[in-house]
Amino acid sequence: MMGRHCRSCGTDISLRPPKHFLCARCYGDAARRLATGERPTPAISNNISCDDVGLNDERVMQLIRLSHPDKHNNSSDANDATRWLIECRGKLKEIANG
Ligand SMILES: [Zn+2]
Repeated sequence: MMGRHCRSCGTDISLRPPKHFLCARCYGDAARRLATGERPTPAISNNISCDDVGLNDERVMQLIRLSHPDKHNNSSDANDATRWLIECRGKLKEIANG
């Protein structure tokens, strides 16, 4: 196995539970920012994490339901957006599974 690394700082997180994709320090930073409403520094906002924006499988599924081509006359935008969301979902699963 390749080992996993913090999505924010690159620290090895192989020993963290599989659902985590931030190291303990970055996770703590993100939680503190959320709690205090503190804005991320520019360096962090250039590498924003799923946690930072609340992006998870549930949210992607909701967007896939909303963007589904059946609901938008099979428009090319709907097809394109749905395809992209399904791709994102796959990547999120890869991250979640380490
Ligand atoms: Zn980190």
